[in-house]
Amino acid sequence: MTELTPARTRVAPSPTGDPHVGTAFMALFDKAWATKTGGAFVLRIEDTDQNRLVAGSEQQIHDTLAWLGLSPDEGPLEGGEFGPYRQSERLETYRPFVEQLIADGHAYHCWCSSERLAELRKEQDATKAARTGYDRLCLGKTREERAKLPGFTETPVVRMLVPDDTPLTFTDIIRGEVKAPFPDDQVILKADGFPTYHMAVVVDDHLMGITTVVRGEEWISSTPKHLLLYRWLGFSEPQYAHMPLLRNADRSKISKRRNPAARLMWFREQGYLPEAVRNFLQLLGYPPADDDSEVATFEDFVENFSWDKVNTTGPVFDVKKLDWLNGHYIRAIGADELTERIVAFHTERGDWDAAIDIDVLRRAVPLVSERMTLLGDALPKLGFLFTDRVEVEETARASLPGNAAEVLDAGIEVLETVPFDAASIQAGLREKLVDGLGIKPKFAFGPLRVGLTGAKVSPPLFESMEILGREETLKRLRALRETL
Ligand code: GLU
Repeated sequence: MTELTPARTRVAPSPTGDPHVGTAFMALFDKAWATKTGGAFVLRIEDTDQNRLVAGSEQQIHDTLAWLGLSPDEGPLEGGEFGPYRQSERLETYRPFVEQLIADGHAYHCWCSSERLAELRKEQDATKAARTGYDRLCLGKTREERAKLPGFTETPVVRMLVPDDTPLTFTDIIRGEVKAPFPDDQVILKADGFPTYHMAVVVDDHLMGITTVVRGEEWISSTPKHLLLYRWLGFSEPQYAHMPLLRNADRSKISKRRNPAARLMWFREQGYLPEAVRNFLQLLGYPPADDDSEVATFEDFVENFSWDKVNTTGPVFDVKKLDWLNGHYIRAIGADELTERIVAFHTERGDWDAAIDIDVLRRAVPLVSERMTLLGDALPKLGFLFTDRVEVEETARASLPGNAAEVLDAGIEVLETVPFDAASIQAGLREKLVDGLGIKPKFAFGPLRVGLTGAKVSPPLFESMEILGREETLKRLRALRETL
């Protein structure tokens, strides 16, 4: 195998709210490629849009990436030799590059007011103008010249002077040759002195030594502008990998407004395991060669990683598949680990009941793990283990057969002396009730189940008795017997 050049990749979310699932999708591919090539994965916080910042959002980005096992090698918390890793802390870094572009005639000041620009857009829409975008009113004018014309503001922005012969095609490592629309004279420095995304992303990707830019396909149309900036500034271009947008089953784009699963925090709140979510995102990137390999660790994913396998038609976000994966991982992690995760889940959600005996929970978890989809599914099924008073549900009482009293009496007699492990309990009860009294198993064990758990349906009966112990089991059965 040929030696791969170490790649430097980055995920560059804007802290404008709850992190989007797309951020984790990009981070997964970034980290996989960096790991495969022995490079590094960087987290950069793109907080240049000061109006859209949401407090706490950056922290959620760190937390959710860590939760998924996708923490970066370099970033605002991790540090690294290319910091700072927050764009708002790099304003002085961008300025000289903007000045250089102005001096070289690739960029110009623009004093047009937002009212004028809105007016211009309206006009262009109304006339269905062939060429839309900024009309270059300010180009070539001094401040004094421009100030004499209408729609002037005091503080200018800086725009790119996009040449007519701007190349519109580029090579993408997923998509091959890609064509993008002709760009507008993009603003690169805003009136507040902050660079726009377009300026900052190019300068930072260059200065941070990023070799492979992995981002959503919505950025394809911006790539020609970015390539112009690379050329003008004399930087060498990175490779581009434009990932497909994740879609709902109706093929609409996943948005936080319409789909709760667009929020990365949602998965944790619902009780999905990070392993399952990560595996799910891997499957969204590309389908495995055969269904058997749908369950794959991050290490497997890295081992088989290849850009040309990535799906370019928006992968559909099928929560049923995620549920299936979650069930798989719930059963794969073992009772001790699963118990810890259940406790952590409820603690985080704020509904952990401190009266629950964790040792009992650990013994009981294997009884329900087969039927669990989410971490929150265990406790509701096991509530009967953690109560002193079993409330018999109405439907359960109504289901008791006519001979329930006889069954309970016989059962109690067995349980008073039988060795108290599930196998002996089962053998003893079967011998007495089924073989001895000739009662069908369904009727023989039903009353015992109702007495023990208060419900018609419960986790396995004999194992539950073993966990509750002889004394508690007998107490419950006698209590039911007394009401008959
Ligand atoms: N800040 C951009 C975003 O949140 C990053 C795009 C990119 O990766 O270049 O989508």
